[in-house]
Amino acid sequence: MSPQQPEVNPPAALRQAVPLEAYTTWKVGGPAEWFAEPNSQEMLLALLAWAGREGLPQRSIGAGSNLLISDAGLEGLTLCLRRLQGTQVDPCSGLVEAQAGEPIPTLARRVARAGLGGLEWSVGIPGTVGGAVVMNAGAQGGCIAERLHSVTVVDPARPDVPFSLNANALAFSYRHSRLQQEPLVVLSARFQLDAGLDPGLLLERTSANLQSRTSSQPYHLPSCGSVFRNPEPQKAGQLIEALGLKGLCIGGAEVSTLHANFIVNTGAARAAEIQALIERLQAEVQQHTGIALHPEVKRLGRFEPAQR
Ligand SMILES: Cc1cc2nc3c(=O)[nH]c(=O)nc-3n(C[C@H](O)[C@H](O)[C@H](O)COP(=O)(O)OP(=O)(O)OC[C@H]3O[C@@H](n4cnc5c(N)ncnc54)[C@H](O)[C@@H]3O)c2cc1C
Repeated sequence: MSPQQPEVNPPAALRQAVPLEAYTTWKVGGPAEWFAEPNSQEMLLALLAWAGREGLPQRSIGAGSNLLISDAGLEGLTLCLRRLQGTQVDPCSGLVEAQAGEPIPTLARRVARAGLGGLEWSVGIPGTVGGAVVMNAGAQGGCIAERLHSVTVVDPARPDVPFSLNANALAFSYRHSRLQQEPLVVLSARFQLDAGLDPGLLLERTSANLQSRTSSQPYHLPSCGSVFRNPEPQKAGQLIEALGLKGLCIGGAEVSTLHANFIVNTGAARAAEIQALIERLQAEVQQHTGIALHPEVKRLGRFEPAQR
């Protein structure tokens, strides 16, 4: 029997069989069995409670800028939190509270205008605050963990009791946080920034960072940013480029000719083709250098095992 619509929210909040390609920056992904984009924390919590009552699996996504969602789609409830926007800035103390769906580029410019320093590096990251915390997003030497004060989260099993966690409880490391292993949903995040700086200078630095990114990375085509974690001290992109694999295609998925750690969707790629290209790059790099590349992007849904 099909689960009932939740009583607390307008039924319009829930949709069925929603193609997820519009919700990822790779522009791939099959249908979500159930889907909603809550625009308030109350609605989000009610939707989590509904999924719990119905015994459905649930997951939250932000801007889908680090996701490979399978062509078969996702079972249960998928919640896209990008409408949970809003930021409160205290220019004196440098404390900033942002909702989970606030876009990182918007936040970076907003705090720079307020004379708050510490997030200028983040302007080129097309994700949300929630996704950036989960991923410990970083660029140009900075990362979220360095500026995060605390987060408000909720356990979907107890949607009635959101609680706060300090940054030092999140076990941050390179593109990793404890939140990647736990089902907690990030509702909002507080950052401690440097107060009293020159907004003009901060905005200039922010724009220069964006400019340097867009000139060296394929921002004009659908992608997920860097596909692989850098096997420090090596760079994944350099290893792939050195093997002459820039431009390699499987279907509509192509190793970017601009930056070898990006796979771009040249038009009609399927998730399976992107996955096949990821596996091909891993195999090539392993065979020729002995180095194992590990994806930074998160895969959601079922993928066929690699054919060897
Ligand atoms: C052009 C381009 C450039 C990029 N450059 C960078 C870069 O320089 N540095 C970098 O680190 N990344 C980069 N990325 C990758 C991506 O933008 C970041 O990882 C970003 O932080 C992901 O945020 P998101 O909101 O899109 O999360 P999603 O991709 O939607 O989700 C990522 C993970 O977080 C989880 N999640 C998302 N929101 C929540 C929430 N509120 N509560 C609980 N779990 C949640 C998801 O379930 C998933 O596991 C780039 C991507 C693109 C397309």
